[in-house]
Amino acid sequence: MNFIKRSLLGLIVFAILQSQAFAHSYARYVSTPISPPKEFDGWQLISIGILLAGSFLCYWQVIRRRWWVSIILSILATSAFYYVFFMYGRYISRMSTDPPTGLGEPCSTFWGFGWEHEGSSFIKWNILGFIFFTISILLISRIFRRRKSSNESESGNSDSKKPLKIIATMLICLLAYTIGLVPFIKHEALVHGWCGGYVSNGCSDNLTTIYIALYNYAHEHDDRLPEAEDFHQLLEKIEPYIDKERIRFDYFPIGVCTIGGAYERNPKYYIWNKSFNGMSLDELRTLDPDEIFRNDLDTPIECPYQERSGIRALYGLFEYIEEQEKEDTNDNGLIDALAIEDVFYQVRAIVHPRQRLFL
Ligand SMILES: [Zn+2]
Repeated sequence: MNFIKRSLLGLIVFAILQSQAFAHSYARYVSTPISPPKEFDGWQLISIGILLAGSFLCYWQVIRRRWWVSIILSILATSAFYYVFFMYGRYISRMSTDPPTGLGEPCSTFWGFGWEHEGSSFIKWNILGFIFFTISILLISRIFRRRKSSNESESGNSDSKKPLKIIATMLICLLAYTIGLVPFIKHEALVHGWCGGYVSNGCSDNLTTIYIALYNYAHEHDDRLPEAEDFHQLLEKIEPYIDKERIRFDYFPIGVCTIGGAYERNPKYYIWNKSFNGMSLDELRTLDPDEIFRNDLDTPIECPYQERSGIRALYGLFEYIEEQEKEDTNDNGLIDALAIEDVFYQVRAIVHPRQRLFL
């Protein structure tokens, strides 16, 4: 008894903690006929209707139950499928702090995660859904078995047709299930979900990496920031100074916001503020991030999706500069882009507590 009580308590605590701690990164839920993205919310009713019709057809025409029994069984089978499959998928998508793709409530579509990123999850989960659906129908039919009439048991007719009946049931299930996927495949709305805390930090991490690259570029170019017409041109110039190993989420190019990249099919790139073209490092050092933050002044690079990412990263850059000046170990005044690993982590550690002020 004691063991059962303890296990139950453990299970409850785990369930509560689990729902609190999951998804530091992206919470990704696959689009299925029973768990569509927010934009396709209305489709859920239609696809459940199709699943009901499919299971009714299986019971009525294939398994040969009376029409009213078929209606009851199809409601039972579809509901059982809905709850078991959804709860299983929901459990998977919450099983750790960085959970794998699973199922969940309707959220905005991750248009940025197409076939290339989430195609295999979409296919795997929907094959699983089709199997869950077929098994539900066959199990419910077995649980509520019809009493055989004396004629049937003598001839053995129904037993010899069993494999055929199972194949026919599977085909009907496959058809009904696949119709439920048509809008998601057509619009490539494969996964939906939301962005956890680290994703939002991922954007300012990107920008900090870019700022540090700008700073290191300047060191090798007369202490001046590069001149560029737009962000793409800037990226070309500072690319050699970007430490790509430091990019936390590399689903998207470094010039793309970790949030914007997930929600948009064609995400906007960061914006380079041309008033910083050719600015000297001395001038850059005179900037006061607190004043920029208070008065909402321009930062060298802005994120088109998160207003505050640019300023967060600027704090990071200033911590980096401070760190460099304090250590002052470099003979020629150059900063080796690859030797910044430790400092970058310090910067991240410093930036993040400050970010909380702006969240
Ligand atoms: Zn951003």
